[in-house]
Amino acid sequence: MNEKGTSGLAQGFETLAIHAGQEPDPLTGSVVPPIYQTSTYKQDGVGGLRGGYEYSRTANPTRTALEECLAALEGGSRALAFASGMAAEDCLLRAVCRPGDRVIIPDDAYGGTYRLFSAVLQQWGLDYVPVHLPDIAAVRRSLAERPTRVLWVETPTNPLLAIADIAALAEAAHEAGALLVVDNTFASPRLQRPLTLGADVVVHSTTKYLGGHSDVVGGALVTSDAKIADDSDYLRNATGGVPGPFDSWLTLRGIRTLAVRMDKHGDNAMRVAQMLTSHPAVTEVMYPGLPTHPGHSVAAKQMSGFGGMVSFRVHGGEEAAVAVCGRTRLFTLGESLGGVESLIEHPGRMTHASAAGSPLEVPGDLVRLSVGIEDASDLLDDLRQALPA
Ligand SMILES: *Cc1c(COP(=O)(O)O)cnc(C)c1O
Repeated sequence: MNEKGTSGLAQGFETLAIHAGQEPDPLTGSVVPPIYQTSTYKQDGVGGLRGGYEYSRTANPTRTALEECLAALEGGSRALAFASGMAAEDCLLRAVCRPGDRVIIPDDAYGGTYRLFSAVLQQWGLDYVPVHLPDIAAVRRSLAERPTRVLWVETPTNPLLAIADIAALAEAAHEAGALLVVDNTFASPRLQRPLTLGADVVVHSTTKYLGGHSDVVGGALVTSDAKIADDSDYLRNATGGVPGPFDSWLTLRGIRTLAVRMDKHGDNAMRVAQMLTSHPAVTEVMYPGLPTHPGHSVAAKQMSGFGGMVSFRVHGGEEAAVAVCGRTRLFTLGESLGGVESLIEHPGRMTHASAAGSPLEVPGDLVRLSVGIEDASDLLDDLRQALPA
């Protein structure tokens, strides 16, 4: 895809991923931004800060490098990095909402996001209502029912890979006076830039594709709204959910190869989805790249690729799905996603166990794959041997 021209980015995406926020170190020429493993900074006379750094909860140069890169990749003016995706979500919600405010969430939100609303923030007076976001009319009806502070969007969703139309939701949210927040973890900014489609804030679990190597936990928010950025920054400093310098450095190291990784994740996932579609043990394949997917045309419009996540349902119910998860050899049985290595999991008993019994409960016969960037035929062979003949 032609990144310039279509995206409004100052430079091409691959260039920004490698250079934004990552000027060679002025002191030594180090090509890679150093790990500033420090908690505090010498002042040149009281209040005489060098480069604005005072204490590393407030700011740290390695974290700044990561944040400048994230802002550039999402096409936002400010990014804030956090210790995890959940820390980013919690901070943002408490920065923009007050007790009594209402939030619309996806009816298949990430389990941890649902838990944050249902088990934590609700106790502090935040009201939430799950809505099926691919259904714009349903969203508009819900927005019309009561004043809403935030429309929280995930697309593609975890684990059902549903697609919501970001531009249409932004319009509906703004007409109703609500903020549009998009959890862009599954697509990554390589494939989708919600701020350019009208979103007010993007949140990430950088643990996933941005970090990309299953070796660091982190989160971020990106926005071009100065007040949201300032309020979130104030709250982050007041409450402290920051990533350390080494975690920031690892995440930035992963980001440099995001473009080539996402392209390969997408190629491999498409081949896996096509193979599963024709496999007799499989009853349904969820992958937005398949023309049969209900959100395919919206995904093709707002994404530049379909990503590396594939979910599918099998004949034989929950036991059969659990058995498939136990038989793969190359796909590692584990939670999380977005790393170079392929993972398999049973959402109902693993990542989404916290949604059991709720409106967000996922089907028991569902298996979720995070398709890695190994040799595609090795991945297909592994799935074929794991599925019943
Ligand atoms: C993993 C994940 C999160 C939470 O991020 P952590 O880094 O695990 O705290 C939020 N949203 C989505 C879509 C995720 O996959």
